[in-house]
Amino acid sequence: MLICPNCQSKDIGKIGINQYYCWNCFIELTVSNQMIYTHQVEEDGSLTSLDDLFDEKQRRLS
Ligand SMILES: [Zn+2]
Repeated sequence: MLICPNCQSKDIGKIGINQYYCWNCFIELTVSNQMIYTHQVEEDGSLTSLDDLFDEKQRRLS
């Protein structure tokens, strides 16, 4: 079960292969090699990485 590293919500929707969206805090999650990569969707549609905000431990899938 995927948990959002940003808000700990389990309200995660699948939007593509290895791509998920947190409906609670509205960030995009990409899973690769057991790691969660986090992106914020900006108003112009571009993505900003939020990975710096989290420890690797928080982003690693258990
Ligand atoms: Zn979230």
